[in-house]
Amino acid sequence: MISQLFKTFGLSTSNPGTYIGTKSLENTEYISSISPIDQTEIGRVSKTSNYQFQEVIKESKKAFLEWRKFPAPKRGDIIRQYAMELRRHKSDLGKLISVEMGKPIQEGMGEVQEMIDICDFAVGLSRQLYGKTIKSERENHQMYEQWHPLGIVGIISAFNFPVAVWSWNVAIALICGNICIWKPSEKTLFSALACQNLLCKVLSNNNIEIPISNIISGDKNQGKWLAEETEVSLISATGSVRMGREVAATVGKRLGKSILELGGNNAMIVSPNADINLALHAALFGAIGTAGQRCTSTRRLIIHSEIFDVFTEKLKNAYAQVKIGDPLDPNNHMGPLIDQNAVNQYLKCIETVQEQGGEFIIEGGLIRNRNTKSPFYVKPCAALLPPNAEIMKIETFAPVLYLIKYTHLEEAISYQNNVRQGLSSSIITNNLQEAQKFLSPEGSDCGIANVNIGTSGAEIGGAFGGEKDTGGGRESGSDAWKAYMRRQTTTINYGDKIPLAQGIKFNL
Ligand code: NAD
Repeated sequence: MISQLFKTFGLSTSNPGTYIGTKSLENTEYISSISPIDQTEIGRVSKTSNYQFQEVIKESKKAFLEWRKFPAPKRGDIIRQYAMELRRHKSDLGKLISVEMGKPIQEGMGEVQEMIDICDFAVGLSRQLYGKTIKSERENHQMYEQWHPLGIVGIISAFNFPVAVWSWNVAIALICGNICIWKPSEKTLFSALACQNLLCKVLSNNNIEIPISNIISGDKNQGKWLAEETEVSLISATGSVRMGREVAATVGKRLGKSILELGGNNAMIVSPNADINLALHAALFGAIGTAGQRCTSTRRLIIHSEIFDVFTEKLKNAYAQVKIGDPLDPNNHMGPLIDQNAVNQYLKCIETVQEQGGEFIIEGGLIRNRNTKSPFYVKPCAALLPPNAEIMKIETFAPVLYLIKYTHLEEAISYQNNVRQGLSSSIITNNLQEAQKFLSPEGSDCGIANVNIGTSGAEIGGAFGGEKDTGGGRESGSDAWKAYMRRQTTTINYGDKIPLAQGIKFNL
């Protein structure tokens, strides 16, 4: 299957890792991509050398001078054609993501659908990069604001959404007139290179030789080069809070711009006024989807004490129905974790829960059977914890769900907000007052606050991102595009006098 996918996407088992548009550069040092499904090596990709990185910067600078001259709707048309390529390759790209990252095939294809959706959004946006007109206080003067591209946008992405998060950035950044340099996760390089080759196909079909989308491969060192580079106007970085702190400091030091999309620690409040069946579906999908490796995964379930026993009994039954195994089998709901380090974190978390007074209602542990061909498959689990347990403040990227009891809504909201991360949150209730309280300034402090849907996932039409340690960045829909452009305020004097500020006069 892999050889067929490689053929489809123009890849090879030993692939260059530096791309300046269609031109690829190889190096002597490689990173292996290992499938978490069965630990087989998918192939290897060469790391970008410092010299190659400088070449990418040089060529990106030149490319910007050309690309910014393209009318925005023409840039949009390239993205429209890219969306068509993605539609044609949805199944194959979904498979490649699933093999490399380990998420279920339906989720792999769902990730490609997200790419298609943001491309469609960007196409429309390419005709709507509107500025404002402003009434001047001076006679015969007109003011307005206009938006120009920034230049080079650096995109650093995480393993769990190997390509969708890049697409949120690249589709918008490109229609705005920027050049992109992508440093994908070192764990999912082939998915990234497949997307690059598809985009290059569109550029070739249009006889565009400008390298508008470029790739550097490597680990955090290559990420640091990108963050340090003064020619890169904006760094959009997705990953752990630890990474975000380092990138923010580096980019801040050179007064660059950044969009940070970092770790989450998302809670769902289940009220006594909830539709229990709805709450159950939302909780299950939020907690076990992508094996708990989503930034929006539900990690904490804050349940009213009146319904705690009934709800957790149903949750146990629901967990018992979860099928775990080969993510390429569409009957399975959950695949493996990404690697041994993730498994170690999961096991350590279970130990810590017990040390901090947690009581497992649904037991965790490793899974070893004929359906699991690597040691990275684990059981999703859930534990009741005292509301102040410290372990709940940490994002463990695994399917461990914490259960907390509450009696008053204010208490539930304070538990929900009592973590440093601020990405996604939700309340399940049919009570309007409760819902509105949760959405009010006294309610959730997160970037995303949902009612009667879970914490997991997001539609591309809204701006996506979170507060506090999640970094404060916004990507994707709404007016997130403004972060990829520079604002220019313009005043035009169409009279024959020049009124100077503060009433200053010269006797000229
Ligand atoms: P990670 O932080 O280990 O790596 C993310 C990327 O950053 C990789 O490409 C890595 O090479 C690079 N990197 C690491 N250190 C760097 C540094 N000092 N300078 C520059 N680049 C550096 O994260 P991960 O394990 O790949 O992904 C999981 C994390 O990502 C979780 O915390 C998850 O919540 C978060 N995430 C957040 C969002 C969001 O939108 N908020 C989306 C997806 C994932």
